[in-house]
Amino acid sequence: MTDSPKTLQAAIRHFENQEVCIDTVANLRWPDGVPRCSKCRGTEHYYLKTQKRWKCKKCGRQFSVKQGTIFEDSPIPLDKWLTALWMLVNCKNGISSYEIARDLGITQKSAWFVLQRLRLALKDRSFTKLGGTESGPVEVDETFVGGQKKNMHADKKIRYEAKGGASGKTVVQGILDRDARQVRAKVLPDVKRETLQNEILKQVKYGSKVYTDDAVAYEQGLQRRFVHEFVNKTETYVRGQIHVNGMENFWALLKRTLRGTYVAVEPFHLDRYLDEQVFRYNHRKDVDGNKLTDADRFNAALLGIAGRRLTFAEVTGKSGSEATF
Ligand SMILES: [Zn+2]
Repeated sequence: MTDSPKTLQAAIRHFENQEVCIDTVANLRWPDGVPRCSKCRGTEHYYLKTQKRWKCKKCGRQFSVKQGTIFEDSPIPLDKWLTALWMLVNCKNGISSYEIARDLGITQKSAWFVLQRLRLALKDRSFTKLGGTESGPVEVDETFVGGQKKNMHADKKIRYEAKGGASGKTVVQGILDRDARQVRAKVLPDVKRETLQNEILKQVKYGSKVYTDDAVAYEQGLQRRFVHEFVNKTETYVRGQIHVNGMENFWALLKRTLRGTYVAVEPFHLDRYLDEQVFRYNHRKDVDGNKLTDADRFNAALLGIAGRRLTFAEVTGKSGSEATF
């Protein structure tokens, strides 16, 4: 992808051309250059140039590059989708639907919809567990989000309490594989021992080094499967490598995004914002620690969205990086 734009301004100019948008998505969806019918996967077709669609020779169905992706059925043209994606994955503190609406000339409601769909598409769907006996430590930490329910409308308040529990705050647990530089973060129903530890069992390989804080919920159980060490966050010194500073850094970024850009996020939408933040965090650097460019992040995001999974190296052209997304 040598001709990818490098900056937002360049991206906007680049994607003004519908042909360029179609080619960009088509190249990522079908790297061998052969479009597949969205119905029968057929590889023989006619190209209907004026409609920018293909007609399948096998089943007769017409399909566009949007079919089978999150862009399908959307009246919003591809150039606006791609520009919105560029902004979402590259604005460090997130981007609001108001900014997108203004920059792209669409309504705030449309912009909100575009962003929510994009966030859903950015969700990390990798099933590989983090850590491992040969790998570096895994940090586990929780944070609490929200809690300003007094300004909320009554029906929202009920849904809010159903999800957030009595404290009115939403629990988010994060797990960071320090070597792989990969975070997973998820809204949890409560901070019970079983809830917190089950998630670690699901996400972390047996035998990994696991660092948590000294919360009661972590006191027992983890050492049966992991090399478990904990930190006392109130102490000012760090015991060598044993800390959860990486996760705390992630929470700081998350909270800056939520405060600065997204005014009041309701708990039932929080997962989407987590997906967005996780994507940006996990695509800051490759596994060798090299910084990824805006174009790298955009291509990685678009590749995931176009419905194909490839190694990270194939997207970025950088060797040694095989992060899944
Ligand atoms: Zn077909």
